[in-house]
Formats: sequence, C-alpha cells, structure tokens
Amino acid sequence: MLKELKILFRHGKQYITDLEGVELTPLFRGRPEIATTITASEAKELEALCPTNAISVVPFSINLGKCVFCKECHFYTPEKIRFTNDHKIATNDLNRLIVKAGDRDAIELDASLVRKEITSYFGKALKLRQVSAAGDNSAEMELNAAGNVNFDVGRYGMEFVASPRHADGLVITGPISENMAEPLEICYNATPSPKILILAGTDAISGGIFADSKAVNRGFLSKYHVDLYVPGNPPHPLTFINGILSLTGRLKKK
Ligand code: SF4
Repeated sequence: MLKELKILFRHGKQYITDLEGVELTPLFRGRPEIATTITASEAKELEALCPTNAISVVPFSINLGKCVFCKECHFYTPEKIRFTNDHKIATNDLNRLIVKAGDRDAIELDASLVRKEITSYFGKALKLRQVSAAGDNSAEMELNAAGNVNFDVGRYGMEFVASPRHADGLVITGPISENMAEPLEICYNATPSPKILILAGTDAISGGIFADSKAVNRGFLSKYHVDLYVPGNPPHPLTFINGILSLTGRLKKK
C-alpha cells in the first residue's frame, strides 16, 4: 500500500486540473490574427495558394470552417498572418468562424442561438454518439482523447455512447460521403429528441479538401439545425470541450 501511495505521489496529478484556463503550446495552430496591411496583390496570391478556398480577398479573411490549418498563408506572409495558440474557436454561428484582417476578439458562441432545451436538459450530463461520416480517423482520435485521463471530459458528466438510442446528440466527423448519407440519417432519426447536433472538424463543417468531391453528399446538413461547429483539422480535444461547455452553459462565469 505504501509503495502504491509513493507511486501516486511521484506521478502527481495525471489530468489537467483547470480545463478552462489551460494554455496550449505556442506551436498550436489556433485562432489566426491577420494584419490590416495585406496588399491587394498579396491577398490574391494567398487566395490562390489556399488549398480549401478558406481565404477571401474582400474583405481579407480566413474562414475557420474551411481552413485546414496548413499554415501555408503564414509561411507566405509571416509578418502579416499568424496563428495564435487560442484553441477556443468553437461557435454556433458560421459567420463567427470568419476571421477578418484586424480581428483580435475571441471567438464565442452566440447565446441567442442556443436552444433553451439544451441548457435545461443537458446542463449537467450529456451523452453523445459519434458518427464518422467518411472521416480519416484524426478527428475521431481527438474526440476519443477528450475522454482520456488527461482531458477527462467525464468530470462534466459527458461521454460518448455506443448507440444513438442512448445519446442526447450526434457528433459528426468527416465530409459525409454518399455511402454514409443514409446511415447518418438513420442514426440521427434513432436519437431521441431533443437532440444536439455537432460538426467536429473542418471536413464536417465544410467538406474540407473533399468539398468538391462527387463522392460527398452533404444534403443532410441542409435539413437539420447544427448546434455547434468545432473547427480544426483535426479539432483539439480542448476546442471540443470548451465548445460543449459553452453550449451547455457550463463555463464558469468570469
Ligand atoms: S492555414 Fe488555412 S487559410 Fe491558410 S492556407 Fe492553409 S487552409 Fe488556407
């Protein structure tokens, strides 16, 4: 027993004690900051080099719902575009994913868009079913990591479950291929209402690099209300956790 206690003491706390206050390494690619001094010719070049059409020229902006965080735009104009380590980039409003030149504000949820039943039903516990709709396993692995001993999202009463019938909502990853369109619909219909719908990762939000593929069928998204967009390619577990806590009204009041 003494031996085990000594090991526990030596290891210290294995989990992140303050999930809301944790700061990621400066190497993390989070919310971008864009200088207002980007010239028209630079804007055109940047638009052309972006692999997912995430860059718009007028006004110059980066759409985090399309961005794959490859950092090519930063390498091209290191003095004018930089990616901060701010991982809190999940929101429920697609417009808030568009970061314009000069924007420095944090990306947050629009409280007026959060459905009342979300906070009243899911404010204390939330079970989610994850559907990989032609995902590449990267977003899926990060979501899985949200439940590991390090991030331990279970401390908030949140976990992934095996069946949509036991879930309060779905988390979709991947661009939604033609083959997955029907299973996704079946899964959605099998989830009891009221249910939450979350898109995790660039592929799910916009199709990412597969957006123009004929093998993709994103008709599902035009039929149902999306409650949360979690950008990232793949999204960081903390981005996901922060987004869920915001959506369910669990973030500590500052
Ligand atoms: S980091 Fe994003 S905006 Fe920049 S080039 Fe890559 S995909 Fe485009």
